[in-house]
Amino acid sequence: MIEYTSLLQNYNLYKEEYESAVLKAFRSGWYILGPELDEFEKSFADYLGIKHCVGLNSGTDALILAIRALGIGPGDEVIVPAGTYIASVLGITENGAKPVYIDSTSDTLLMDTSLIERAITDRTKAILPVHLYGQACNMSAIKEIAEKYDLYIIEDCAQCHGAMWNGKYAGTEGTISCFSFYPTKPLGALGDAGCICTNDDELADKVRMLRNYGSRVKYHNESIGVNSRLDEVQAAVLSVGLKHLDESNQMRIGFSERYMNEINNPKVKLPVTANEAKHVYHLFPVLVDDRESFQKHLLNNGIKTQVHYPIPPFLAECYMNTCAGVLNGAEIFPNAYYIANHEVSLPMYSGMSEEDVEAVINAVNSY
Ligand SMILES: *Cc1c(COP(=O)(O)O)cnc(C)c1O
Repeated sequence: MIEYTSLLQNYNLYKEEYESAVLKAFRSGWYILGPELDEFEKSFADYLGIKHCVGLNSGTDALILAIRALGIGPGDEVIVPAGTYIASVLGITENGAKPVYIDSTSDTLLMDTSLIERAITDRTKAILPVHLYGQACNMSAIKEIAEKYDLYIIEDCAQCHGAMWNGKYAGTEGTISCFSFYPTKPLGALGDAGCICTNDDELADKVRMLRNYGSRVKYHNESIGVNSRLDEVQAAVLSVGLKHLDESNQMRIGFSERYMNEINNPKVKLPVTANEAKHVYHLFPVLVDDRESFQKHLLNNGIKTQVHYPIPPFLAECYMNTCAGVLNGAEIFPNAYYIANHEVSLPMYSGMSEEDVEAVINAVNSY
């Protein structure tokens, strides 16, 4: 059976290094806010070429705290793609602000930047692009609009570690960027973790304070904070992963090239990458008319697939009867709705074997 992702095979690639790093952190006698976190924050910021990285408990917390640090709350609106994972929207609603959705493009499956301007109102505070599947959004267009209307850019970088737009890393051009290190992500911990990155000293300082009970000085709580720290053991794991990030991204890019070149079934629509984008293929999304029969055919050939994501946030149960739910969203966001109903993610992970890639190609072509 070929899995759509395999954390264990990914882990096994760098097993010895992970295990010695973890053991070192275990044996240090210091587990929270220590040297491992300092080192990881510095090296991830250096990798991206950005001033600050602040380690947090998860990507969802990164989105919540980034939006809180920007002072966005009740009465404010944030523009977000209709086609994304719900966590992109949770950061907005958790702060009492309103998500204003815009449709995805039918080719890159990302936020359609030509729709942003007409979604802006006098309550709009920020644009929240999501670099979904590992491909960077059109940051040139987003930056131009943000400057014109004086809006913040909050980048959801949960799936795009190492991806680029016009030669610049995703997560470096916005006001603040939010990364997840959930185990399946291009840079994954062996547990929950995330971070924000920014060039803004004040914002970085604010998130640092918020993540630690809202205090800069012990027992002096100036803000109502949370506990959202990236622990020493996960920081040590991430430092190992970061050393191999380019290499593991390159493996998936190689597998994707084979998929792109060798899948030739007209019933299967392959993903489209913008010329300016470097895609790191966190996922490999294809579109098919009849998803059920396609997934069944692959499963009969020993291949597991997944769907990202079958229920768009604007139709999420929890948002019905709130400002984040859009009952007629299927008509207003036809591309996002189509993708939700026709997307299938083919197996894609670092550490996959060429034989497995071949088997997926053959099974897709025989559908
Ligand atoms: C994974 C993910 C998140 C949330 O990250 P967690 O670390 O799981 O909280 C947010 N946005 C997107 C697009 C994601 O894929």
